[in-house]
Amino acid sequence: MTDQPAIEAIGLVKRYGEQRALDGVDLDVPRGAVCAMLGPNGAGKTTAVRILTTLTEPDEGSATVAGHDILRDPVSVRRSLGLAAQDATVDGLLTGRENLEMIGELHHLGRRPAKARAAELLDQFSLVDAASKLAKEYSGGMRRRLDLAATLVARPEVLFLDEPTTGLDPRARNELWAVLDTLVGQGTTVLLTTQYLEEAERLADDIVVVDHGHVIARGDARELKRQIGGDHLHVVVADPADLEAVTRIMAEVADGRPSVDAAERSVTAPTDGGVAAISALASALVDANVEVDDLGLRQPTLDDVFLTLTGSSPEYDDEVPGALAMEDAR
Ligand code: ATP
Repeated sequence: MTDQPAIEAIGLVKRYGEQRALDGVDLDVPRGAVCAMLGPNGAGKTTAVRILTTLTEPDEGSATVAGHDILRDPVSVRRSLGLAAQDATVDGLLTGRENLEMIGELHHLGRRPAKARAAELLDQFSLVDAASKLAKEYSGGMRRRLDLAATLVARPEVLFLDEPTTGLDPRARNELWAVLDTLVGQGTTVLLTTQYLEEAERLADDIVVVDHGHVIARGDARELKRQIGGDHLHVVVADPADLEAVTRIMAEVADGRPSVDAAERSVTAPTDGGVAAISALASALVDANVEVDDLGLRQPTLDDVFLTLTGSSPEYDDEVPGALAMEDAR
């Protein structure tokens, strides 16, 4: 029983009319692991979470959470999980403390244990000072921490976090990550969805990359990077008018398709050539009279993974910090 994964899904399909929100997704998350489902808007992440948390049923496929079948035993599934969905679940007209105590009582913890659990979570989530404030007066980051605390009142075995840090500023995001680190250290299994490459790398043991309802890659960050072949040549030009010429040069010198980031004035392409490739690139740039601001070899990012796997960059929301506006060079 303990060897059974915390989350196992086989061939999940969900259709909305003609559209396949999920098109045969498999998942296997060992107990105590953190799995990040990484993908752009509309990839199917929320649909997967809704199915696994029994909020909706799949059209095809099967899944278990904490050993319970989502279709045959949804009540046990719900008992074993916590869900922090994209919409806040706490009541804005109650204080932070009242919210947590009420949830404890709804879970039949009993009055005193519910109070004790609320106090413990307020402390763990650095909300003690704000405990007596109405939740509607909380900042975005505090509210998200309260939401997360609310999902943990009943000590779920498996935690689902749907885009836990979308819309948070970097400081609030770092605070939430620190809290998640603590949780994971305590052995909670987590499935989180994210559009942040950095978040997936930072928090997850395993990353499942989804696009248009399909899993297009999986592995840890290092494995994913290996799939697209080691190093990348990277050039930042001084004059954007040179981007086209540099893309042509890169296509000859590098070992894979170059991608252009117009906003960054950069061209990037995979290479196996190491220093020799840099040297070839440098002389070609000199011959072509291209002035560069930066030139070098760099480790691939998960953006590069996406580009290699799908032929285009992930489509981010505008508000996602750090999102790269990369364009396909072809
Ligand atoms: P986001 O980051 O925007 O939440 P996502 O990866 O979570 O994206 P889903 O919300 O799972 O994606 O949506 C996958 C696809 O299914 C989208 O094209 C979406 O429009 C569609 N979809 C999701 N829920 C419904 C619904 N209830 N009715 C019709 N279409 C839906």
